[in-house]
Amino acid sequence: MTAKGKMPVLFIGHGSPMNIMADNDFTESLKKTAKEMPEPKVIMVVSAHWLTRGTFVTCQDRPKQIYDFYGFPEELYQITYRPLGSKDIAESVGENLGRDAMCDLSWGLDHASWGVLKHMYPRADIPVLEMSLNVNVTEEYHYALGRKLSFLRERGVLVIGSGNIVHNLAVMKYEMEADPYDWAREFDLYVRDCLLKKDHDGLIHYESAGPSARLSVPTTDHYLPLLYIAAMQDKEETVNFTYEGIQHGSVSMRCLKIG
Ligand code: ZN
Repeated sequence: MTAKGKMPVLFIGHGSPMNIMADNDFTESLKKTAKEMPEPKVIMVVSAHWLTRGTFVTCQDRPKQIYDFYGFPEELYQITYRPLGSKDIAESVGENLGRDAMCDLSWGLDHASWGVLKHMYPRADIPVLEMSLNVNVTEEYHYALGRKLSFLRERGVLVIGSGNIVHNLAVMKYEMEADPYDWAREFDLYVRDCLLKKDHDGLIHYESAGPSARLSVPTTDHYLPLLYIAAMQDKEETVNFTYEGIQHGSVSMRCLKIG
């Protein structure tokens, strides 16, 4: 843990499910990030792929693995990742967030969680829970929920926001290594600068970046997990970018660690 005994927090750009079985500089960075951190007692992932009315946390003993992608190679559907859940942590999140963290028994771990944890903690021996994104609240509200999750850092819980800062599938290019669109680069750097300047208002009101914001965030699902992670930053903490890059022209893989 950090000097103050707090777990770092991470935002991971998870990108295409093809990264789950890839061995590239992005997946290498995930392994390195995990190795350089204290081992978490529990992991909680705020997932871009779990959209709900109200906020939920998984509270099963062993959440099921969800293969929430279609038309990918058969090999991907054979990968198993089945860690335990954590009722204790789900309950304490409920105590701190009240109605904003309801217990869920039907979801599980979608690929925003297991697809990155498979690289970071391949033994699946650390309990994992997931938190959903409430589709009915504002960016400010998501940010405020993130602040209320800060207590988890003192409990040895690693909170990961899993999404993508730039995520426009409608115009994505076939090749993973394709040249990024100018607007994708522009918005990715806008967010980077906000993070470096600790300008969290700039993250919450990301539309102020102009046209690049509309193209980069056509829907908010992959962007919102970032707000939770930024919200958990202490005043004196800096941001460390553990990976930078844009895949398929329109998917930013930028990852960061705070603390
Ligand atoms: Zn995704």
